[in-house]
Amino acid sequence: MSKPLNILVTLGPTQEPIDAVRYIGNRSSGRMGAAIVAAGLDAGHALTAVVGPVNASVDPRATVRPVRTAQQMFDAVVDAFPTHDLLIMTAAVADFRPRAASDAKLSRGGAMMLELEATPDIVAHVSRSKRPDQRTVAFSLETADQLERARGKMRYKAVDLMVFNPLGTMNAADICATLLWPDGRTEPLEPMSKEAFATRLLERSVALFGTRPPP
Ligand code: C5P
Repeated sequence: MSKPLNILVTLGPTQEPIDAVRYIGNRSSGRMGAAIVAAGLDAGHALTAVVGPVNASVDPRATVRPVRTAQQMFDAVVDAFPTHDLLIMTAAVADFRPRAASDAKLSRGGAMMLELEATPDIVAHVSRSKRPDQRTVAFSLETADQLERARGKMRYKAVDLMVFNPLGTMNAADICATLLWPDGRTEPLEPMSKEAFATRLLERSVALFGTRPPP
């Protein structure tokens, strides 16, 4: 085996509070991230998992940091990444959050306006300031202009490998992914279980350490 790595994986959704009981969230199950954590441990790597609110069970051999909001996930990743070689960002981070959350439960009335603001882009922040010996991998789920948008995000977020996955992947047992490489190569993969894909992605991610980082 190649040198064991310290790998940081994020998984699950984030929840952005609206009031004491309501939140903005999404359907992410966390299965993909949990599969990567297990595959990484089986391959002899050390794993830290930053875990949003999910039911998926995370391998107890991993160091687990539970979080709820995008801001908490941002803080946990920024804190942990300096001691890791690789970040694999599978979390379905909420892109927007209510500008102000009420501590009380809002009562039912007529129409309601929610003012939203963007959450911090975790992988973009970390990737742009990563050391030359570190690598980052992100996921992109799109419903239109799929590969083109995923490639745009890859550049914007400065990641070393982008996994494009179609909408059907969310909360499903299987994944039909396409890997996008910084040199412009597109690698479509056959449909497979998330467990099989986790092993494949880790092999590809470990291979990134033999390459120079993108300029
Ligand atoms: O939401 P988007 O399509 O931009 O997400 C693509 C990648 O960026 C995913 O890997 C996701 O985990 C990451 N992301 C992030 N911070 C956000 C939104 C997304 O790191 N606020």
